[in-house]
Amino acid sequence: MVKKFSAYLVVMILTLTMLVAGCGSGGKGASSSGSPDNGAPAEVQGPLTVKVLDVGQGDAILINTGAQVILIDTGDDKYREESRKNEENTQLFAALDKAGITHIDKLIMTHAHADHIGKAAKVIKKYGVTELIHNGIPSASGAFRNALKAAKDQGTKQVKVKAGDELDFGNGVTFEVLSPTKEIIAEDTKDLQADKKVNVNNESIVGILKLGQFSMLLTGDAEKEIEKELLAAYGDRLKCKIYKAPHHGSHTSSTKAYVERVQPEYAIISCGTNNSYGHPHKETMQLFKKLNIKVLETDKNGTVTVTTDGKAYSVKGER
Ligand SMILES: [Zn+2]
Repeated sequence: MVKKFSAYLVVMILTLTMLVAGCGSGGKGASSSGSPDNGAPAEVQGPLTVKVLDVGQGDAILINTGAQVILIDTGDDKYREESRKNEENTQLFAALDKAGITHIDKLIMTHAHADHIGKAAKVIKKYGVTELIHNGIPSASGAFRNALKAAKDQGTKQVKVKAGDELDFGNGVTFEVLSPTKEIIAEDTKDLQADKKVNVNNESIVGILKLGQFSMLLTGDAEKEIEKELLAAYGDRLKCKIYKAPHHGSHTSSTKAYVERVQPEYAIISCGTNNSYGHPHKETMQLFKKLNIKVLETDKNGTVTVTTDGKAYSVKGER
C-alpha cells in the first residue's frame, strides 16, 4: 500500500513539474495553427486576447482585455480584388459579430490609407466608439475625413497620440506608442499644407502591446526609414514575442536588422488571398524562415488569435 502510494506521488510530482515547466516557457512550443488536439498544449486563458482579423487585403486587429475592447484599424470598406471591386467588404462586421462585440472603447487608426480605415466611419456609427485615436496629421483622404465626421456626429472623443505616449487598455494591458514622433507629425502636416507628397505609411502608429512578460509589436504599414529610426531610438527595447509584420509582409518593411532586434517567436501577416501587391513578398518570408520565426497569415490561416495571461501565450489560426 505504502509502495503504491509513493509510486502515485512520484507520478503526481512528475506531472506537476511538467505542467509548471510548460507554463513557464513563455510561449515557446505553444500551439501555432491547427486544433488543440494535435498534441500542442491547451490554449492559454486570458485576460488578453488579440485577434488579427481576416478582412481580406488590409489590417484590423481586435484586442479584448476584459476591461476594454480596442480595435486597431478596420480593413477596407470595399473589396480590392478586380472581380469584386465595388462590392462592400463585410468581413469585419462578421468577425466583430462573431466575437460578440457590441461596443468599442478605443478605435485606433494607424494611418489614413483605406485598407486600414476604410470602414472606420461605419464602425463608429454601428458599434459606437468611446475614443477615436489617431496621429492628428490632417490627411485629405476620404476615409479619414469620413471617420472624423462620424466621430463628431456621434460625440466620440478624439485623442491624438505620438511617440512616448502610453495608452491604458485596462487589466494591466498597456500600449506604448513608439512612432510617429512629434517631428514626423510636424513635418508631414507642414508638407500636406504646402501640397507636398508625404509617405503616409511612415505616419503609422507603431507601438508595443504589453501584459506582464508578453509583448507584441504592432506596426501599421511603417517602412524601412521608420524601422531605422526605431532601432536607433529603442534598440533592445524592441524585443517582442510577437510581430505583426508591417505593410502586409511587404519588402518595403521588415529589414533584417529590425526583425533581428525584435527577435519575435511569431510573425503574423494580414493580407488578402491572391492580392495584386504580391503580399507577403518572398524576401520577407525568406527572412522569417532564416531567423526561425513561425509565420501565420490571415489569407491562409484566417483570423489569427493570440491569448495570454502575461506569462504563457498561445497563437492559433482559424484554419
Ligand atoms: Zn496597408
